[in-house]
Amino acid sequence: MTTPRLNYAELRRILDDTLTGSRMSETEAAALFRLTGRDIWKVATTADERREEVVGDIITYVRNMNLHLTNICKNRCGMCAFGRKTTDPDAFYLTEEEFREHARDAAKKKVTEVCYLAGVHPGFTIENYEKMILTLCEEIPGVHVHGCSPDEIAFAAHQSNLTTKETLIRLKEAGIGSVQGTAAEILVDSVRKVICERKISTDEWLRIIREVHDVGLKATSTIMYGSVETPEERAHHLSILRDLQDETQVFTELVPLAFLHHNTPLEKNGKVTYGSTGREDILLTAVSRLFLDNMKNIQVPWSKIGQKMTQLGLMSGGNDVGGTMFVDSLSRTAGAGEGTDFFDPKDMQYLCTDIERKLARRDTLYNILE
Ligand code: SF4
Repeated sequence: MTTPRLNYAELRRILDDTLTGSRMSETEAAALFRLTGRDIWKVATTADERREEVVGDIITYVRNMNLHLTNICKNRCGMCAFGRKTTDPDAFYLTEEEFREHARDAAKKKVTEVCYLAGVHPGFTIENYEKMILTLCEEIPGVHVHGCSPDEIAFAAHQSNLTTKETLIRLKEAGIGSVQGTAAEILVDSVRKVICERKISTDEWLRIIREVHDVGLKATSTIMYGSVETPEERAHHLSILRDLQDETQVFTELVPLAFLHHNTPLEKNGKVTYGSTGREDILLTAVSRLFLDNMKNIQVPWSKIGQKMTQLGLMSGGNDVGGTMFVDSLSRTAGAGEGTDFFDPKDMQYLCTDIERKLARRDTLYNILE
């Protein structure tokens, strides 16, 4: 059911309530996601006030690098332009030496985190993931390996006749530092059927994240917005994350992932004609800050929305710019423009100073390093 539009008094009451500690309801969040016009800035301003209360003026980033071992993927999701079939002419799978070379490059760039982002290769077992983690730890001493979504964990478990908890324990023993809360997309099964039908269900995703907590690891949380979901489904997704965070405190942050539509099956099949808009980007950051009262860190995804929009997101409730990345083939293949691979900390500094905030380098778990 579509949420009714808010009048001025209702909007003011919802925003004032968040500043006095009342929890926003899912219906209220959906109504905020439907706002247009100058009301958006009222939400953004309130979210910025809330951000100041929760984390102060520091904007954080992590020196990290993405590593793409392969784009061959069993899922080939509707919202992804990166995944390929084994037989596609542009499918790739790095040799061990090539992968080590990328890892050595990451070491030279003095990263503290490596973000393993790749297709879910149909031939992978737990051994492939263990080997990947061990190689990274070997080539980049002291690095934090951030990787393996719940979907990859479920697949590795299935392929290796393990439970997902046993799989997580093996990944932890191999040296994984934290788990990616990706593959969440929108945690509504009817939406998942359209955008990522071969991925695990909502219940399975939640079960595995609970196990991440049980084995003593942390995870990020994500939302992929701007494809076919409604504002109500976006709000429901945030509500699921908030409940799980109440229960476990497993999430370090929310990473909002704006949908980029170019070259995706959804675009090719005519199910979408556009990705997320600037209005949606600002509202997603602002409403998340106000709704997720148990999530300290709201990231603004510069590689998805560009550096200037990121600065606006940081003025709308965001407090983190994510990582330097150095390479991001996932966004590039979906139409992200030039300059979306590497965010130079000097440029981050410039944008932070411009809004009178301070930049700090952090590690993956949000400990401040400098
Ligand atoms: S989003 Fe991930 S799982 Fe889906 S096709 Fe792309 S690489 Fe594969």
